[in-house]
Amino acid sequence: MDGTLINGRLVFTLGDKYNMSNKIRKIMIENIDSHNKSTKIAQLWKGINSSEVINAVKSIPLMDGASEIIDEFKKRDYIIGIISHSYTLGTDYIVKKFNMDFSIANVLEVKNGLLTGKLKMPLGWKQINCWCKNSVCKRFHLERSARSMNIPLKDTVAIGDTRNDLCMIENAGIGIAFNPKDERIMENKIVVKGQDLQKIISFI
Ligand SMILES: [Zn+2]
Repeated sequence: MDGTLINGRLVFTLGDKYNMSNKIRKIMIENIDSHNKSTKIAQLWKGINSSEVINAVKSIPLMDGASEIIDEFKKRDYIIGIISHSYTLGTDYIVKKFNMDFSIANVLEVKNGLLTGKLKMPLGWKQINCWCKNSVCKRFHLERSARSMNIPLKDTVAIGDTRNDLCMIENAGIGIAFNPKDERIMENKIVVKGQDLQKIISFI
């Protein structure tokens, strides 16, 4: 979602509103496993109204070509989902907006309308021994989703932009790095640069 369907990152949009972006940047460079970073970042949101997460995602502009490329995938009978390192409060909004099929992301705990700072993480890397140790191992969830829908992995397409997407992009039938933010996700892969998602379609 972040940096692909939407032209921004939800945690930083929220972080800017609550003056937490510097804290997020510090956590991101700590020498701890990725899923522990997600836990620490979620703690920053304790006490915030959950509707603010949705307001934040709404305020981020959509990537150019997002709705066109989703229509194109629909025309070709793809099942379309978001596997995100972000939050379900954001991904659910985008799934509805584009009439997509599913999303998998971190779940922020909400009590009486307020975020508690606790995070429920889909994880999955332990099961497949993935190096990523992310709160959402995108490879695990790509493979599991494909299996549950009886879709061979070779028929999947994964699009992403950061290191968090790497394990998924490397193992999808077609893996595409869209405006990659990390050199490792550019090696031996399809790389699409620019602000228009429609450029992807020539590779599908
Ligand atoms: Zn992984």
